Amino acid sequence: MKVVITGGAGFIGSHLCQRFIADGVTVVCIDNFCTSRKSNIAELLKHRNFSLLIKDVIQPFTDYELIWLAGVNVVIHLASPASPEQYRRLDLETALVNSTGTKNMLDLALKEGARFVLASTSEIYGDPEEHPQSEKYWGHVNPVGPRSHYDESKRFAEMLTMLYHRKYGLDTRIARIFNTYGPGMQAEDGRVIPNFITQALQGKSLTIYGDGSQTRSFCYIDDLIDGLYRLTMLPNLGGTIVNLGNQDEYEIKEIAALITSLCSSPASYTYCKLPEDDPVRRRPDITKAKELLDWAPQVPLVEGLARTIEHFSQTGS
Ligand code: UDP
Repeated sequence: MKVVITGGAGFIGSHLCQRFIADGVTVVCIDNFCTSRKSNIAELLKHRNFSLLIKDVIQPFTDYELIWLAGVNVVIHLASPASPEQYRRLDLETALVNSTGTKNMLDLALKEGARFVLASTSEIYGDPEEHPQSEKYWGHVNPVGPRSHYDESKRFAEMLTMLYHRKYGLDTRIARIFNTYGPGMQAEDGRVIPNFITQALQGKSLTIYGDGSQTRSFCYIDDLIDGLYRLTMLPNLGGTIVNLGNQDEYEIKEIAALITSLCSSPASYTYCKLPEDDPVRRRPDITKAKELLDWAPQVPLVEGLARTIEHFSQTGS
């Protein structure tokens, strides 16, 4: 079996590559390193079943690249900046990788008769007015706000994926990934858990945006990979859209308190301006994932955070 993973050197991508390589699958990782890093795949690069194509998937494939990718059975499209700070900086790149990039990857899957898996996001629900969010909810998105190039381009990616499924009968699967954390995240990517851990380990004050009463539900990376793997591999799931995330919901100020306590750091907080359009509440309804994939997260937040803190304190990220 041969799998192509775009964004394979990123946080989630590199863990997914490791999972497929461990199962004896041939993996072609495509990445342009705009938000990822080579150290994530340093060990994988030594493996004979793993190859790296350095490429921006916004660009069309060359004949040489198409030969490299020929015979692929599954295309998994993860490539996109994903942290609010990164997609604010890489705004146009984000819009294009999720639109033009998704089309290029769908066309590859169609040409090769491969299964297509799209990494979508809880952001397609915007600042939700329904709680928890099930796949049936259409969302509440500002189409022109500071997060819109991410939210709307992911919504476009979902639309295009479903269009290829309906029009061409392509076997497509869409994962709506909620907040995920764990070893392999970059300390400087701007998301709340790496920010808080880095600040706490350095004895600094934790930066809470707003009053910290906004909520998120955090899924440990190993659980997320297990869900994504099941969604990719199980038969008869063409056209499926499924939430993947942890249902345990926390206020951001609770996360701050938990991390300072786990790092044995003094509880010191700096309250900063809440970014515009920051969702107030987020929690996945994972009934569908439980039924279709026989999947539910196993790692409690305290345990996952302890593992992540251990990793950050050893490696600096
Ligand atoms: N946040 C925070 N301090 C930080 C970084 C983020 O309070 O240093 C908040 C942010 O405003 C949001 C939540 O934590 O409400 C999660 O932010 P993150 O960037 O991790 O991801 P999001 O869920 O917004 O995509």
